[in-house]
Amino acid sequence: MTAQHYDVIIIGTGAGGGTLAYRLAFSGKKILILERGTFLPIEKENWSALEVYQRERYHTQERWHDTNGKTFRPATGYWVGGNTKVYGAALLRLRERDFEQVEHKEGISPEWALKYRDFEPYYDRAEELYDVHGQSGIDPTEPPRSLPYPYPAVRHEPRMQELANLLTQVGLHPFNLPLGLKLNEVDRSLENCIRCNTCDGFPCLTRGKADAEVNCIQPIRDRTNVTLLVAAKVTRLHTSPSGREIARVEAEIDGEHQFFTSDIVVVACGAINSAALLLRSRNDRHPSGLANSSGQVGRNLMKHNCTAMVQLSTKLNSDVYQKTICISDFYWGELSFPYPMGLVQNTGNVLADMLPAEAPALLAPLFNVSSTAQKIVGGRAGKP
Ligand SMILES: Cc1cc2nc3c(=O)[nH]c(=O)nc-3n(C[C@H](O)[C@H](O)[C@H](O)COP(=O)(O)OP(=O)(O)OC[C@H]3O[C@@H](n4cnc5c(N)ncnc54)[C@H](O)[C@@H]3O)c2cc1C
Repeated sequence: MTAQHYDVIIIGTGAGGGTLAYRLAFSGKKILILERGTFLPIEKENWSALEVYQRERYHTQERWHDTNGKTFRPATGYWVGGNTKVYGAALLRLRERDFEQVEHKEGISPEWALKYRDFEPYYDRAEELYDVHGQSGIDPTEPPRSLPYPYPAVRHEPRMQELANLLTQVGLHPFNLPLGLKLNEVDRSLENCIRCNTCDGFPCLTRGKADAEVNCIQPIRDRTNVTLLVAAKVTRLHTSPSGREIARVEAEIDGEHQFFTSDIVVVACGAINSAALLLRSRNDRHPSGLANSSGQVGRNLMKHNCTAMVQLSTKLNSDVYQKTICISDFYWGELSFPYPMGLVQNTGNVLADMLPAEAPALLAPLFNVSSTAQKIVGGRAGKP
């Protein structure tokens, strides 16, 4: 069967693939988007902590293997929009020094070939595309920017404002976390975001979160130069006999293997699946997998390296959407630990039904305390 030819094939519709698809859609190029997932259903369960966290309703059923061969179910999902369907929409720029050689406690992060100034104009466009709300001039590590944030900062609710004030009093510089939300705080009827307590980690039932499906893929679906195939899992990239270019892209669709060709192929399947696809595409010319002369493809994988701290308080926190505070004072370390420590943000809401999945060790002692205390842990009444 003759393969169908395109100018560009984009594999994956997450933050990478979705954003690129949106940008290229207006170039008039003939674009094929291959996405292994389908559209995430809009249903009441989107906002159920029980369904999302304990029953992992939106995670793949796939089983992966760890380095010891033990199988586990990965906390990832295959949907149009990729992991942005459940992300927290905290959208921050890297800092200028991030692109230089940086010494971490565990080793050196090498200098990048590109610098912050190379990315700066694209950050402007990305913030516009993803409805980013923020306020510059407060974050002490903030990099220079040529344009202000496209939308005003998401305001703190009363308890978060109180916390921000207390943090300022102890000499820190809390700033409003830049967030990609479809939120208009002057006239709430104009936008979809309702500032609820099921945002970070949840799909958005009102489509008020700026994600790659809502902001990038939906707006280009009716374009005649764009073809989106969902439930289309790319299984292999075939190279030409010279091994210099991708001759065909093989995808499994409806149980059949179909082939596509294009001038440019973009692999945007996420960090792990992009590496898996390149390694799975090994051939005689590339016995260690494609683009892997370094032998590093699939190694050194990054992960959300974070610690969550939950504080019990006797003071009731009535805030609903509380993920608005960010602190960068420890980004580059401090006197007693002169290595980068990243940002401190508040988590999304901690709901009672999330705890068995996220912090079973924390939950055990909670079973012995009154339901009132459990409510305080959640910040609000324990239900979403
Ligand atoms: C709970 C959670 C909260 C997060 N919060 C934030 C946050 O607040 N701020 C932030 O900046 N980041 C956040 N992130 C991280 C962010 O979502 C990811 O960094 C980002 O989505 C990565 O984009 P990507 O395009 O590389 O991959 P993904 O978004 O994972 O997209 C990859 C896409 O490729 C598809 N795919 C995979 N394999 C194939 C294949 N073989 N064939 C076809 N399609 C394939 C997948 O289905 C998916 O659609 C969060 C992530 C999670 C899980």
